[in-house]
Parts: sequence; structure tokens; C-alpha cells
Amino acid sequence: MTDRRILVVGAGPAGLSAAATLAQAGQRVVVVDQAPQIGGTVYAQNRTGDTRPLSHAKERRALFDVVAAQRERIDIHCSTSFVGLDYQGNALITGADGFLFQPKAVIMATGARELVQPRPGWTLPGVTSVGALQVDLKTAGRPPEGRIAIAGSGSLLYALGAQLTRAGKAPAVIFDAAHPFLHPLATARLPLHILQEATGFILTLIRARVPILSGTRILSVEEKKGALSLKTNHGGRFRTVEVDRLGLHDGLARNDYGLQKNPTIPVIAAGDCRDVLGRFAAVKDGNRVAAEILNLLGTPAPGISLTSLNTEKAAQRRLKSIFAHDGCNDLNDLPDETILCRCENRSVADLKALTATDQTPRMLRLNGRFGMGACQGRFCLDWVAKLTAAEMGSGPSRPQRWPLRPVLIAEILNAADHSGNETHIEESAKCTFR
Ligand SMILES: Cc1cc2nc3c(=O)[nH]c(=O)nc-3n(C[C@H](O)[C@H](O)[C@H](O)COP(=O)(O)OP(=O)(O)OC[C@H]3O[C@@H](n4cnc5c(N)ncnc54)[C@H](O)[C@@H]3O)c2cc1C
Repeated sequence: MTDRRILVVGAGPAGLSAAATLAQAGQRVVVVDQAPQIGGTVYAQNRTGDTRPLSHAKERRALFDVVAAQRERIDIHCSTSFVGLDYQGNALITGADGFLFQPKAVIMATGARELVQPRPGWTLPGVTSVGALQVDLKTAGRPPEGRIAIAGSGSLLYALGAQLTRAGKAPAVIFDAAHPFLHPLATARLPLHILQEATGFILTLIRARVPILSGTRILSVEEKKGALSLKTNHGGRFRTVEVDRLGLHDGLARNDYGLQKNPTIPVIAAGDCRDVLGRFAAVKDGNRVAAEILNLLGTPAPGISLTSLNTEKAAQRRLKSIFAHDGCNDLNDLPDETILCRCENRSVADLKALTATDQTPRMLRLNGRFGMGACQGRFCLDWVAKLTAAEMGSGPSRPQRWPLRPVLIAEILNAADHSGNETHIEESAKCTFR
């Protein structure tokens, strides 16, 4: 028997706004998030000393208030992960609150994943993604020790740079592979809220005299006497820079793992999981997808205007053109020893050896272990696909199957079984809801 509840995976802007819209229409909703608190990537509360713009706090409060007003119809489970939906429509939820149930629909609001292009030395200790440095800053409540460099491309380089500066630790340098300051016309046509935020970041960095080197790529990273030695390339001029921490970021992509069609119930993506358009669009898209689900269930749905969603889409297209560049490095020039899959420690040489022996994309996964590790290819498969495109047309595809990640048998056995009934699922994990 199908449960009367709708499952929302992800308690970020998209998931929370979807849950609130569904609850306002009289639906009961179960929200799960693997993080210890609600808010998603942008609105999760910092431990101490928030370094984000004041506008974030206001936006977060407004979103949380709408959800809080519907708490009777919304069960929220933090530190709790969605692991997949089987072919009968049973959802397996593990973590602090483990349970199995049959929702009548699923909204996947699992956000975006960060892209980091492999380079020699990118897996060394001290090198992380920019997002990981942001998480570090939020959870520790203070910036990491040592000299920090930020490199790659995209607006997140400047967001982190400003956040570190406001936390009292300006980055030593920002290397941007693109030339974002050479596009004044496209920049001037960005919506006001993006322009204001970007201006705030840049002014913070200028006041702190942070060097911003555009058109500069990190070719390799080496560990030298306890520090990181970065070899950079600026239009054919090579330099070596020494720092203690390096944050890399080469864009965002949909985190749509687990978004598989199900024969029994509707499964629909919302927010960055559907299209990476930023936090404002995520809220709007959550409302839109909730209305779509209500329509599918034959329940009256609120009318949602798509104007602001389309504006954000145009703005993201413009941002993409401002940050466009021809690759952080040429993937084909990567030395053989460069690690591609950091979960299984597989290198460019391992990939070349396999492609030389007439493998199919599926055999690359099975024999090469690419995309088979703990992250299931979130980090390596995009690059493996690009590197093998010439020989194979397409590289190994991402697994869209149940479960989304390796699961312990104990996690399956310990999950309270609520399939076949509609009993209340206790919220045992405490969510920070401030
Ligand atoms: C690393 C990173 C840094 C960013 N920094 C900024 C920034 O500084 N400023 C800014 O404006 N925008 C930033 N963004 C973009 C911004 O986060 C998004 O546009 C916005 O949060 C999208 O909202 P969302 O609800 O779609 O996804 P998110 O806010 O990302 O929420 C997705 C939620 O899904 C949860 N989740 C994922 N998989 C599962 C699962 N299997 N089970 C349970 N829960 C799951 C995650 O824990 C997360 O809480 C950043 C994005 C990333 C990826």
C-alpha cells in the first residue's frame, strides 16, 4: 500500500519551499537531509561568526518561517540519507532516522555537485574543493590556518575569497582561469541582486589587497617542505607560488544521482538538482515542482509564475559567458601519473591502458573501477567521459540505479519498516531549526 506522504529529498531552498507548498495544499510531507541541519548548501547555519552577506540571513529566515508555519504536516529528518527507490516504489532512508516507506511521490532536491578538474597533485593533503573550504569555515567557525590560494573558475572563487576575508583571513591569491573583468556589458546586464552581491565580494577583496590573477591556470601541485608548490601558467608565462592550502573549483553540475524513473510513483527533480540556477531560482523551482506533483495527484495546485525563474536562467547563462574559458588545463596533456579517480586511486595511465584494449564504456567501469568507488563517479566520470570521447563516443555513464551508494546490510536490516502502513515516522534526529 502506498503511504499518503510525499518524500522530499534535500532540505535546501528547493526542498523546503516544495515541502511548504505541498503542506499548504494539505499534503503530508517527509523531508530527509543527510546534513545535521536544514538549510542546504547556502542557508545551513554556521557554528559561529556568519561571514555571509546579511541578505542571506533574511532570506533564510523567510524560508524557515514558511516551513515552520506548516510543521504539523512536515516531518523533517536530519543526518538522514535517501539511498534509493526500489522498483515497487519503496524508499530506503538510512542514518540517524533509518526507515523504509512507500511515498506517493518523490521530489529530488539534492542540489549541485562541485566539479574539480584533475591536475597533477590535486589529491595531495591540503588541496580541497572550494566548497570543502567553505564547509570548513562554517563548521569550525574560523578560517583554516596558513596561506590559502583559491583557483579554477566561477563566481564561487570570489564568494569564498570574500568569506575568508570577512572571517579575518584574506586568501593569499585568487587564480581565475577566465577573464571575468573583461565583460563589462554582460556584467552590467546581470540582475541587481547578483550585481550587488558580486560587487560586495570584489570590494571586500580589493580592500584586503587580495591579488586576483585572471587568465591563470594551476598546472600542477607538489608538496615541498610541508608547503604546497603551485606551478601556474598565465598565457605561456610560468610561475611557482608557495601556499599551505589550495581550494579548487571548476564549476557546478546537477547532483541528480538517484533521479531514476520509477514505474509506480512520480519522481521529479527540483532546484539545482534539475538545473543549476542558484538559490533564488531554487526556491521558485521548489514551488513549481510541488505544484506539478499536486497536479499529477489530481489535487488543486497554486498557480506559479515562471517569470522570475526565466530571469534567473538568463542570468546564469550570462554568468557562464562571463566565466567562459577554454579549459583549466588541456585534459589530453595530463601526465600519465595524474590521479583521475581519487576513491580507487586510478590514474590517466590506467585509463589509457584500458582504452587501448578495445574496452566498452561499461568495461571501463567494471575493469577500470572508474565510477565504482565511494563517490560513485561524482568526481571522476565527467573527465573520464571527456578523455575517452574520441575513442568511444561516450565514456562510462553514471549509475542510475538503486542503491545510490554502497549500503551496509545492517543499514537495510535496521531501517524501521513503514512500508504498507501509514504510521507516524518518529523524528529522532534533532534538526537545528533557527
Ligand atoms: C559547494 C557549493 C558552494 C556554494 N556556495 C554558494 C554561495 O556561497 N553562495 C550562493 O549563493 N550559492 C552557493 N552555492 C549554490 C547554492 O548552494 C545553490 O544554488 C542552492 O543552495 C540550491 O538550492 P537546492 O535546494 O537546489 O540545493 P542545496 O541547497 O544544495 O540543498 C541540497 C540538499 O540535499 C541534501 N542531499 C543531497 N543528497 C542527499 C541524499 N541522498 N539524502 C539526503 N539528503 C541529500 C544535501 O545535504 C543538501 O542539504 C553553492 C553550491 C555548491 C555546490
